[in-house]
Formats: sequence, C-alpha cells, structure tokens
Amino acid sequence: MASKCVYCRREVPMERTMQICDCCGVKVWGEKMFKAILAGTDCEKEKGNMELGRVSESNDPGSIQELHKKINQSHLL
Ligand SMILES: [Zn+2]
Repeated sequence: MASKCVYCRREVPMERTMQICDCCGVKVWGEKMFKAILAGTDCEKEKGNMELGRVSESNDPGSIQELHKKINQSHLL
C-alpha cells in the first residue's frame, strides 16, 4: 500500500514518514533542507520513535495550510 503526496497525489516511497513527494518537498523547503528533513525522519523511524511527526502535527496545526499556500504560489510562478 503506497502512500500518496498530500499535495499532488503522486505516490511517495513506502519508507517515507511524511506523505510529501520529492518534488513538493523541494518546492516547500528547498533541496538541501528537504534532504535534511528526510534524513531526520528516517532516523526517527528507525529508532521506532514517531514523536517527531506527532509533535509537528499537534503543535503546529496551521503548518499544512502554510505549506499549501507556498505550493500554490510556486505553481503560479
Ligand atoms: Zn507532491
């Protein structure tokens, strides 16, 4: 069961913690930052610690909307 990108609905790799594809991730954070985030989340997952994902969801409920805005703006450019 593959997960799909929350923005463009493309499939994202099974091992990815976030449901965001490379393309959208790079648009939002930039390539360097996105890779760092992936490395961090992969690391957390290996340890069996999913706190990082939960914390960002519960502490920052506006972040998804913010990211959508950024994605929409980048599509318009
Ligand atoms: Zn995407």
